[in-house]
Amino acid sequence: MVDLSPQLIQIIAAEFRDNPHPRAIFAPDDTLLICNSAYGIAYDQSPESLVGQHWQQIIDHALASPNSLVIQTPDRHHWLAQAKQRRRQQASLSYDINLTDGRWFVCQEQLLDDGHLVLTSQEITRQKQTEFKLLETMGKLEYLASRDSLTSLLNRRYFLEILSQEYERSQRDKNSLTLLALDIDHFKAVNDTYGHNGGDVVLKLFSARLLTHLRNYDTAARIGGEEFAVLLPNTTEDQGKRIAERIRMGIENIVVPGFDQDFSITTSIGGVSTQDYIGSPEQLMAEADKALYQSKGAGRNQWAWCNQPSQSMMG
Ligand code: GH3
Ligand code: MG
Ligand code: MG
Repeated sequence: MVDLSPQLIQIIAAEFRDNPHPRAIFAPDDTLLICNSAYGIAYDQSPESLVGQHWQQIIDHALASPNSLVIQTPDRHHWLAQAKQRRRQQASLSYDINLTDGRWFVCQEQLLDDGHLVLTSQEITRQKQTEFKLLETMGKLEYLASRDSLTSLLNRRYFLEILSQEYERSQRDKNSLTLLALDIDHFKAVNDTYGHNGGDVVLKLFSARLLTHLRNYDTAARIGGEEFAVLLPNTTEDQGKRIAERIRMGIENIVVPGFDQDFSITTSIGGVSTQDYIGSPEQLMAEADKALYQSKGAGRNQWAWCNQPSQSMMG
C-alpha cells in the first residue's frame, strides 16, 4: 500500500478547502484522510473531526443526525446495507445527495488502483429543481388525462386499464372481483326538462353520491354520458349485491333542486362477479352491461346480476 505523503496531503487539502462542493479522500482502509468544509456540512461534522474516522462511522453519524444529508428511506438498515454492499465495488460510482438546506450534488467516487478512494462532486440543485417541476407537471397531466372533467371520476380509458390490472390480480390471488355497470334512468327527460346544465348538475350529484358508498380501494368511473362503472376488488357476489342495493337507494334519495320543486332520479345497475367462466376483463364488462340491460327491461331503478353465463361457456 502506498501512503500519501504528508506534503501531498497538505497540497490537496489546500486545493479542497475553498471548493464549495464536497470533496474527500479515503485511505485504503476506508478512514478519511482529507476533506473540505462542504463535505463536513454534508455529513454534519467539522472537517478536522472527520479526519481519521472510518467511512462507516461517518455514515452512522449522518444517519443519526437531523442536520446531515437527507436520507430518504423507509428502512435505514436496508439503506445502509445496500450502501455498504456497493462501497468500493467498482472503479467509479456516481450518486446524488441532497442536503438539508435544499442543495443537491452529484457525487463521483473513484477507486484508485492503490486503494485510495477520491470523492468529488458537482452541485446540481437547478437541474434537480427542473426535474422535480417536470415530474410534478407530468403527475398533473396524468391526473387530468385520467379524469372526466365534469365529475372528476376516472374516465373510461383509465378505468379499463385499472379493470385489467384488478382482473389479473383477482385471478392471481383467487379473490372475487365485482363490477357494476350503472346508467341513470330517463336521463334524457332530465335534460329535456331542466336543460343541459340541469343534467350536468345531476351527473355531479350522482358521482358524489356514488363515491360515498365506496371503500378507498374501490374505483368509480364515468364511462359514457350518463353511464358509470364501479369496480369492487375482493368482493363476492353477495357482498356486491348488497353494495348495489345501497347505491341504488343512495341515488334514489338524492334531492336535486329543480325549477319550482326538487326532484329525484333513479339508476339501474348490472352486476357481475368473477367466476371461473369469466375469461377476460372485456367479458366482465359485457356481462355487467347485459345485466344492466335486464334491469332496464324489468322496469329500471333496480339491480340485476349476471349469474347465467352463456351455456357454451359452461361447456
Ligand atoms: P334509460 O332509462 O333507458 O337509460 O333512458 P335515458 O333517457 O337515460 O337514456 P338515453 O340514452 O335515451 O339518453 C341519455 C341522454 O344523456 C342523452 C344525452 O343527451 C345525455 N347526455 C350524455 N352526456 C351528457 C352530459 O355530459 N351532460 C348532459 N347534461 N347530458 C348528457
Ligand atoms: Mg345510457
Ligand atoms: Mg340512461
